[in-house]
Amino acid sequence: MSSNNRTVERVLTGIPATDGAGVNMTRVIATPELDHFDPFLLLDEFRSDDPDDYIAGFPDHPHRGFETVTYMLAGFMKHRDNKGNQGVLGPGSVQWMTAGRGIVHSEMPEQEDGLMWGFQLWVNLPATDKMCEPRYQDIPASDVPTVEIEEGVTVKIIAGEVAGVEGPVKRVTTEPLYIDAHLDPGSQVSLPLASGHNAFVYVYDGSIAIVGNSTKMIDRGEIALLGDGRQLAVKSDAGARLILVAGRPLNEPVARYGPFVMNTEDEIRQAVEDLQQGLF
Ligand code: MN
Repeated sequence: MSSNNRTVERVLTGIPATDGAGVNMTRVIATPELDHFDPFLLLDEFRSDDPDDYIAGFPDHPHRGFETVTYMLAGFMKHRDNKGNQGVLGPGSVQWMTAGRGIVHSEMPEQEDGLMWGFQLWVNLPATDKMCEPRYQDIPASDVPTVEIEEGVTVKIIAGEVAGVEGPVKRVTTEPLYIDAHLDPGSQVSLPLASGHNAFVYVYDGSIAIVGNSTKMIDRGEIALLGDGRQLAVKSDAGARLILVAGRPLNEPVARYGPFVMNTEDEIRQAVEDLQQGLF
């Protein structure tokens, strides 16, 4: 295997967390062990077929200074915001929401039972974009290309480019790659990554081996933070499903307070004041 292979720098497991009005999920980034992984500020996996874990949802709450990315694997979530936007996210769909200077929205389950499974990722914005106009990229499952890139390996490309196929998410400053890869038992693949971009793998089903200087096993529920390099070499004996996410690090100060992520404490105070004055 090439020396351009990314090695595994750290392996972490998520922790149980409760957010919104009482949604139980697993927090993978934004934990005591991993505050953030520039430019990624938070990663949650929500997965439950018990409505008590999700039915409370996320009633009206604000965001400022970053992007929230929701990717659904199963179930339906309805969003509605104070700019008049609303819609329902179903299995395989993506919402890339650039909060910019501020929105207030709700994210509520559009089902009373059955499985709800997916991810929410927070992506930071550079100082120059933190106060931009809010915008959405709402992407139905049918607009996410699925490509078989090796025998037994298919990838859904949400953002970035793999094997000459581009994902539907566009014009994001941190130039993200976000793919959902399915590996059949006994398959292997090398996935290209932009050198200098921070990248992680989160295995949400099965297990994989990442081949770098040595081989490192990553099991369901584990996140692997990768070192630098031009590709990720993965194989799976048992089969696996994973998300691979990468982005250009901002290397800027991070001041965070709940749903506000800015560069300075003064900007956080301003966000709280602006929200109180109804300026979102
Ligand atoms: Mn939200």
